[in-house]
Amino acid sequence: PLFTDFGFSEKLLNGIYEMGFVKPSKVQEAALPIIAGSPGRPGQSLMAQAQNGSGKTAAFSLAVLSSIELEYLQPQAMVISPTRELAKQNQSVINELGKYLEVKTQLVCPGNDEDRCPRDPKAHILIGTPGKLSDLAKKKIINCWYVRTLVLDEADVMLSEENQMGSQIATIKQQLQDDLQVLFFSATFPDDVRHFGHGLIPNSKGIKV
Ligand code: AMP
Repeated sequence: PLFTDFGFSEKLLNGIYEMGFVKPSKVQEAALPIIAGSPGRPGQSLMAQAQNGSGKTAAFSLAVLSSIELEYLQPQAMVISPTRELAKQNQSVINELGKYLEVKTQLVCPGNDEDRCPRDPKAHILIGTPGKLSDLAKKKIINCWYVRTLVLDEADVMLSEENQMGSQIATIKQQLQDDLQVLFFSATFPDDVRHFGHGLIPNSKGIKV
């Protein structure tokens, strides 16, 4: 398969090629036919077991970018990861891939960026950590009405004994429409993680790479 097989726009393809990606990695090849969409029409939900280094970041980033309606400057996707550093990395990958789409992203994490995160952020994609995102969503500071895709990156780390971010993730999910694409990415799937994922997305497809 090639990146041209997934219905991506010319602008998105240009972003991909400028990253130096020639063809999809294994996880991209397996996931993109399921999760890629078109503007205003996200693809399907997915639980994906994929390790760091597999190209998982680009997989969910491309799915998100494929379905954003750029003419509407409202949050349409949320990408959640366990740490601010990971959120920043995700933001830079999304910004690079979406360079020619002129997509706008906003980091929503504790720390300096918290102060800079405006009320009702004017961005297509919000990228952050569960605590801050759930807080702003619950307080209606973030407009969740148009969010059509929720990405959980490193779900096992977020749900770990140490982090215990499950209830914050559940709070975010509660603020979103029922008709939601959920992209659940995790390196491992112990029973509790699998159970949590199935609770978020009953009957979702699964892949393992
Ligand atoms: P990740 O698994 O998301 O941490 O990505 C691992 C590395 O693979 C990153 O440096 C990406 O830039 C790179 N990468 C992702 N997709 C591709 C691809 N299709 N072709 C070549 N490199 C890629």
